[in-house]
Amino acid sequence: MPTKKDKGVVENFKKACFFVSSQKEIDSLKKVSKIDIELPTNREIEQVRQITDFIGLPQNFGIYKGNIRNAMAVVINGKRIIIFRKDLLRRIDRAGGSEYWSSMFILAHEIGHHLSNHFSTDSPNSKDTELEADFFAGSVLCRLGASLEETIKPVSFGFLTTSMDHNNHPDKKSRVAMITNAWNSTNLQLNNTFAVPPPPPDDDVDFGTQSIFTPEDFHLMHDDLLNNIIENKSYYELEGIITRIHYNDSIYFNSPNNIQEIQVEITKDNTGFYENKESGVKIGTRILVQVPTGEEMCHACIRNYLSILARGRKIRFKTYIYGSGLDSYMFYLEKLKR
Ligand SMILES: [Zn+2]
Repeated sequence: MPTKKDKGVVENFKKACFFVSSQKEIDSLKKVSKIDIELPTNREIEQVRQITDFIGLPQNFGIYKGNIRNAMAVVINGKRIIIFRKDLLRRIDRAGGSEYWSSMFILAHEIGHHLSNHFSTDSPNSKDTELEADFFAGSVLCRLGASLEETIKPVSFGFLTTSMDHNNHPDKKSRVAMITNAWNSTNLQLNNTFAVPPPPPDDDVDFGTQSIFTPEDFHLMHDDLLNNIIENKSYYELEGIITRIHYNDSIYFNSPNNIQEIQVEITKDNTGFYENKESGVKIGTRILVQVPTGEEMCHACIRNYLSILARGRKIRFKTYIYGSGLDSYMFYLEKLKR
């Protein structure tokens, strides 16, 4: 096993579960007896910790990067270990187009093998154990706040699964069905209320001057209505955690940012902001907030703006109510640390 700076190898393992993509890969894995491994990044360690924290487990898995094609779970000398290909998590997240759900799925799947005791049987890499690990991962991702679409995405990738049914690996269709089943039944138990997602992987990163977006950044400073609202203090200043993101899927909507609105669970109310203490929003309330498109921003700004708008992110924001009073519109956004 590698220590802080070292690299190492795992060898002579008898039982392992692989997240495989093809028959060729399964055949080649049969010959694998030695894998070079090295320590993962802090982000990857943090991702595993978020999953184990969430299900109330101590994080006592060994996590390593290795020269394998995808990911695997293995027990060596009684120690539970997860190994994944060096660039896998970054690559799959980019392909998935979500913040981190695809890599979270793979990690949850491998953790699922360990928790389901799949290494105590003779043939750990069977169809049943794969589907059990998928069920576990589907349920965990639902609890963490991923949508159904985001949850099934990693098994829809060509480079991770195949539509063929193998001897010991289920096909794409049955995996998607199993994950959908897990997600739906968990969602039903949760009564359609999603958990507050864990902080995004870049939570500790200092965004510097780019962690605050004001009316000026949104090019709203010439908005008379807004100026009036600011002057009369008739807006909400709140803190909360982003729980859901709703995208605008209209084909006519052509903007660098297709996020339409976010759902935020309030963590700090604003009652102190008003003379009339009754007008505040209470802690624990979830509100829907329309967000500016950021159309006028430069590329670097829009990238930063969008990375603040991630599920699990804690934000301070200002918003005003318009129309029937059910919608509110954001005109100030600030990234906070959880
Ligand atoms: Zn597996």
